[in-house]
Amino acid sequence: MSVKRREFLFAGLALRPSTRRALVIDGRHNHDWRATTRELKGILESAGFLVEVATAPRTNEELVDFRPRLTGYQLVVPNYTDFGNGGVWNNGLKADFAACVSAGAGVLIVHAASSAFPEWREYNEITGLGGWGGRDERSGPYLYWKNGITIREEGPAEGGHHGKQHPFTVVVRAESHPIVTGLPLMWQHATDELFDTLRGPARNLEVLATAWSDPSTGGSGRHEPVLFTVRYGKGRAFHTALGHSAEAMRSSGFVDTLKSGALWASAN
Ligand code: ZN
Repeated sequence: MSVKRREFLFAGLALRPSTRRALVIDGRHNHDWRATTRELKGILESAGFLVEVATAPRTNEELVDFRPRLTGYQLVVPNYTDFGNGGVWNNGLKADFAACVSAGAGVLIVHAASSAFPEWREYNEITGLGGWGGRDERSGPYLYWKNGITIREEGPAEGGHHGKQHPFTVVVRAESHPIVTGLPLMWQHATDELFDTLRGPARNLEVLATAWSDPSTGGSGRHEPVLFTVRYGKGRAFHTALGHSAEAMRSSGFVDTLKSGALWASAN
């Protein structure tokens, strides 16, 4: 894809991108959050954001008082999972997060951030789809792409799975959406972990791109959503299921869609 062409599109999306502020919240993760925060920060800065990072304390006792201010940011990026480590946010931070998105802040959800906080209703409404942590049919439907439409499978099954990491093709399904306008209709993505059978409330959700989850690599045999948007109140979330590692985040398709997704989500 053409970088110059995309930068022109970014300029169209972002009237004053240098004035936008983003906050990454990290500190707990079942992935290498230090490396991925570095990568995400670099990508967002290259899109014109001023990026700050709030790192949660190491102990659960200290987490009780962890409440970074979310006001003044056009974009919040929870590069964070509470996956099996007792790292659920305190009620004050949870309320602040839901309130700032509802009031119009943008959110980026990247890869495993979708599996965080299975019991927190508002977070799941903002992420749209997630996996693991006991998610099943009670969490909402499983979405996949078939014959040109999004299928919403309501039947009983666990939510969240992936096969072996491998390179795969990403296929655009909403070519007129500003996040993917100007991109090729399909591109090769780097070696990454391809989530399948994610489930969630999936309200106000638009699938932008899918990837074939090949049974030969342990996948679902479905076209799985990998890029999608969710609207929550006046806020917008861009959710990319891609980006298991810093290396996967260096793939040009990941970089380009993260930039345009961040600008779109923070455009309120
Ligand atoms: Zn992963």
